[in-house]
Amino acid sequence: MLVRKSSLNLPTLSKKMISPYQFISDKQSGKNHPEGDIKKFINDYLQNKVEDSQLSAWLMAVCFNGMTTRELNEYVNTIINSGKSLDFSDVNGYVVDKHSTGGVGDKVSLIAGPILAACGCYVPMIVGRSLAHTGGTLDKLESINGFNGDLSIYDFKRFVKKNNLSIIGQNAEICPADKSIYSIRDITSTIISTPLICGSIISKKKAEGISGLVLDIKMGNGAFMKNAQDAKSLGEALTNLGKSLSINSEYIISDMNQPLGQTAGLWCEVEESINFLKNIHRDKNLNDVVIKICLIALKMAQIENPAKKIEESILSGKAYEIFEKMISSQKGDINKAHVSNDAKYEHIVLSEQSGFIKRIDTEKLGNTLIEIGGGRKTLKDKIDFTCGLRMFKKIGDKINKNEPILKIFGSNQNQIDCVKNTFKDIIFISNDKINNQTLIYE
Ligand code: URA
Repeated sequence: MLVRKSSLNLPTLSKKMISPYQFISDKQSGKNHPEGDIKKFINDYLQNKVEDSQLSAWLMAVCFNGMTTRELNEYVNTIINSGKSLDFSDVNGYVVDKHSTGGVGDKVSLIAGPILAACGCYVPMIVGRSLAHTGGTLDKLESINGFNGDLSIYDFKRFVKKNNLSIIGQNAEICPADKSIYSIRDITSTIISTPLICGSIISKKKAEGISGLVLDIKMGNGAFMKNAQDAKSLGEALTNLGKSLSINSEYIISDMNQPLGQTAGLWCEVEESINFLKNIHRDKNLNDVVIKICLIALKMAQIENPAKKIEESILSGKAYEIFEKMISSQKGDINKAHVSNDAKYEHIVLSEQSGFIKRIDTEKLGNTLIEIGGGRKTLKDKIDFTCGLRMFKKIGDKINKNEPILKIFGSNQNQIDCVKNTFKDIIFISNDKINNQTLIYE
């Protein structure tokens, strides 16, 4: 059931109406929309004056014919103005966020958020759920018993001001037009359009009231962007749109040809993040991506000695303290989560030969996680928060026959049995020495 926002307080437009049919036909034939038409079409959709089928047709036409910069600006502003925006002009500190285009084992938000907050920034973070084979920060946080990521905009701002950090999911108050359009894109194969992606991501970032944004464009076989050209053009498009809305925006391109860090799943990723923040264990690749993103954000914030401040925020325990405060403010019980998320079953995958890890099909690995309960195949599916995987070896590592490559775990033995013999089509071993995988391309 698609939710329209007919009760929204939308401006009444005096502009003469072109019919939805004509509007769709314009984009279909590659014409640029005159100023005001996109705003009218989207607002009419939200007021039930345009059909789902007509919105779908227009979205598909955008997939093929794109949008001009002016059209994209009108589109993103219409989405922003469909809801409320936060205003942090009353805080004494830089308001910043980071955003990843998604991957497997990408837990950087859970770590960079508290570090930036501990360094004096204010971090209002709106995050997503799992999408296709990639994990979602909100799903991971919900493995913490009681955690509430569905705050009102009022409480969201209150907690950002109190703890310097709050992480929530998109709610009905923030860019409701994006919520409605996204649910149509999701079922009409129109997610994969650069202007539509940019409008969707950047509208929510603008509504957060941020001054700075660091984008982590994931590239590789476990990312949506499989090659450098696509990753770069998405990075440029997102940062250009961010800048046009007065958000200081920068992007990096980082590797997603293997999971980031040692774990991928739900609670296991939260636990790895906690161990990072407590300085118990910091996976090198994960550490490098976190530090790179935090350095860019702190440079935007004009904070001196950023590398030293980042390190101090971890070693002093302040970053972890902020993480814990955020969780408890949002009703999460971290102590319970440590107990309730113990996986009942596990299977260790052993190498069938000696050699070097050559390639990991990371998208397939992400899909395997869905098979053992780590993601949804339908919206109604319940997630098994205990499930996940732990990598013992990464690309370039030497491995002996019968040595463990990875471990999968969860609370459904049948699901684990179904996937346990599939890893020879996911992890490939070479007799020859393999170079380490590049981590940060740009
Ligand atoms: N995430 C979003 O929020 N929107 C998109 O369109 C794609 C990813």
